[in-house]
Amino acid sequence: SKAKLFDEKTDMKTSFKDVAGLEGAKEEVQEIVDFLKNPEKYTSLGGKIPKGALLVGPPGTGKTLLAKAVAGEAQVPFFSLSGSDFVEMFVGVGASRVRDLFKQAKEKSPAIIFIDEIDAIGRARGKNNFTGSNDERENTLNQLLTEMDGFGTNTNVIVMAATNRADILDKALMRAGRFDRQIYVDLPDIRERKEIFEVHLKPLKKAEDLDTDFLSKQTPGFSGADIANVCNEAALIAARKGKKAVEKQDFLDAVDRIVGGLEKKNKIIT
Ligand code: ATP
Repeated sequence: SKAKLFDEKTDMKTSFKDVAGLEGAKEEVQEIVDFLKNPEKYTSLGGKIPKGALLVGPPGTGKTLLAKAVAGEAQVPFFSLSGSDFVEMFVGVGASRVRDLFKQAKEKSPAIIFIDEIDAIGRARGKNNFTGSNDERENTLNQLLTEMDGFGTNTNVIVMAATNRADILDKALMRAGRFDRQIYVDLPDIRERKEIFEVHLKPLKKAEDLDTDFLSKQTPGFSGADIANVCNEAALIAARKGKKAVEKQDFLDAVDRIVGGLEKKNKIIT
């Protein structure tokens, strides 16, 4: 059976308001929203709408969220697959999965296709690796390139892909007419962390003593995903203690726990 590629009911609901910080990246993707909403305006003078944009940045910085927000802002369907699915789930059928994904998106066009962890299929060809078959991965990558090249000028499907390893991607992906736009999505600075806290504190029952300036100072190096995690952990810690609202100390305990988790993760890697 076919994987369900998008959910009409829950998608298209994300907007730029859900994405805190990332002003520069949001400005860049606003153009993609405009292309999807008003293709005729852009092609009227003979120009071609870009087919792909690559979101580059560390894990958990909001790349998936941003791509979803583009679809939500343009009110177009969002089809997504992760590069790691090709390695783990679609063994032997990678190329046909790509074909299927593009076929479905074209039928619903205008649309966004999002490929997370594109490095899993888009690593430079001809370089050996020790996990699984390279031929299989190359077939999948070749199919992706073929599909992007095959878009007619009026297809109006834009492919967004995300990676934290742009350096290892096959250069063929970055050629004109493919992922020729790269958008950087960095870790948040202190001001952006404050904004991300504001987004993720909204659904919580908070004590009066919460100060987002303080919280953002306590979380250097945290990604947006880490901050979302802190807010959720803090609410669980407070609830376990039978509190009626989440307090400053619960956030500090949650930060400690997440810093501990990050340190453990780094220890395993190095
Ligand atoms: P990965 O590279 O690990 O796939 P990613 O960059 O795609 O990560 P997301 O999956 O978009 O990151 O982020 C995970 C979650 O973290 C989001 O669903 C959201 O809750 C939170 N988050 C991350 N960045 C932001 C942000 N800038 N504003 C608000 N929330 C954010």
